[in-house]
Amino acid sequence: MNLSCDVLVAGGGVAGIASAVSAARKGAHTVLVEKNCFPGGTAVNCMHRYICGLYSSCPALPCGTLNGGIADEICEEIVKLAPGTKPVRMGKVHLFPFVTGDFTNVLRALCEKQEGLEFFYETRIDSVKSERGNIRRAFAKGPNGELQISPRAVIDCSGDGAIIRMSGASYYLSPPEERQLAGFCFKIEGIKDPGDMAPVSVPYYISQAAIEKKIPCYLKYTKFYHGNTEGEGYCLMSLLPGENTEKTDEARKNAVKIHDILKRTISSFRNSEISGMSSVIAERDGLRMKGEYTLTEEDVLSGRKFHDGVIKSAWPVELWDIKKGPIYRYLEPGTCYEIPLRCLKSNSIRNLYCAGRCISASRRALGSTRVMGTCISTGEQAGLAAVKELRVP
Ligand SMILES: Cc1cc2nc3c(=O)[nH]c(=O)nc-3n(C[C@H](O)[C@H](O)[C@H](O)COP(=O)(O)OP(=O)(O)OC[C@H]3O[C@@H](n4cnc5c(N)ncnc54)[C@H](O)[C@@H]3O)c2cc1C
Repeated sequence: MNLSCDVLVAGGGVAGIASAVSAARKGAHTVLVEKNCFPGGTAVNCMHRYICGLYSSCPALPCGTLNGGIADEICEEIVKLAPGTKPVRMGKVHLFPFVTGDFTNVLRALCEKQEGLEFFYETRIDSVKSERGNIRRAFAKGPNGELQISPRAVIDCSGDGAIIRMSGASYYLSPPEERQLAGFCFKIEGIKDPGDMAPVSVPYYISQAAIEKKIPCYLKYTKFYHGNTEGEGYCLMSLLPGENTEKTDEARKNAVKIHDILKRTISSFRNSEISGMSSVIAERDGLRMKGEYTLTEEDVLSGRKFHDGVIKSAWPVELWDIKKGPIYRYLEPGTCYEIPLRCLKSNSIRNLYCAGRCISASRRALGSTRVMGTCISTGEQAGLAAVKELRVP
């Protein structure tokens, strides 16, 4: 099948959904291609429970999100499905809670009701053709065979910069030993009377097992949190970053080992069961586009503003270090930094934009920009920018 469109969005994670909806709302014929059969990408696959990066860093409960727009709409729709949901404070930050099923329903509905937006699930972009500094064609495969798309502009929301790499655009990629820990989540049900000690005692017993070499050392940064219903909990395992596509089976085996340790050492886990696992290993760090500007950690921590600042964020620089585990560097309370539009525009391919995890940011600045709230807003702004430059009537 051959298809022409104004804007092609690659990837239907949170950034891709926001990009596609904002472009279509401006009248652009928009095509969104997602290789999974569901929207939401990493947030859904890794069973996230909180949207981070939506609020300012003030100690009081914030009254609104920093960027409004589609991020606000998503939160409002979640509240309709789960009345009473409101931001919660954890340490120095505020997060917006959600359950996976509601979240995918909200994202799916946002796309389905959007005129001018065509969504192709289970379809993967395998290659693109660039000519004279522009992407001219994208080649994808889906349930109905091959798809050849001729876009006027492309927004890479693939998380790992798939289109940036395929198009020959310039990019940054840190060596695996400098990247942040990756993650793999599994859900446990049937935990009896967990009390308040489970979040503390689970990491303790896991790190003991790592010290005794019963499980690999990097698993010691595994986190545990309770779910919404009684007896439900989630273990977020930390894994080494890098070429992880072939390592899902190993992660599954380690999940089973961790669960066995918990069953043997914590009485409330004795009759519990694993009831779900991530389908792939999720990377925090990866390929980032070289844009017209590259956001730095100094920009983030100093709360820098830009003449073309289009997104605000106050999320700390959160780095999951291979040797030291999670490290947080916070902005001054009440301040926020801006992400300039130039971070969303390629410096080498004229009709290429990006949003979400692969924007033009240094490795350390990515520690702040990669959270879902910020990804949604970079998506929305990339969609608007692409349409503005195309001058869609
Ligand atoms: C372990 C871990 C825990 C985290 N916890 C939190 C948290 O609690 N809260 C929070 O706010 N953030 C959290 N984050 C960060 C956050 O989940 C991600 O950075 C964010 O969701 C990225 O969104 P995205 O849309 O840029 O990319 P993704 O969510 O990765 O979406 C990219 C999409 O593109 C699709 N795709 C890729 N290549 C192709 C292709 N060639 N063709 C078609 N489709 C393609 C993928 O299938 C995917 O759906 C966490 C990240 C990790 C790794």
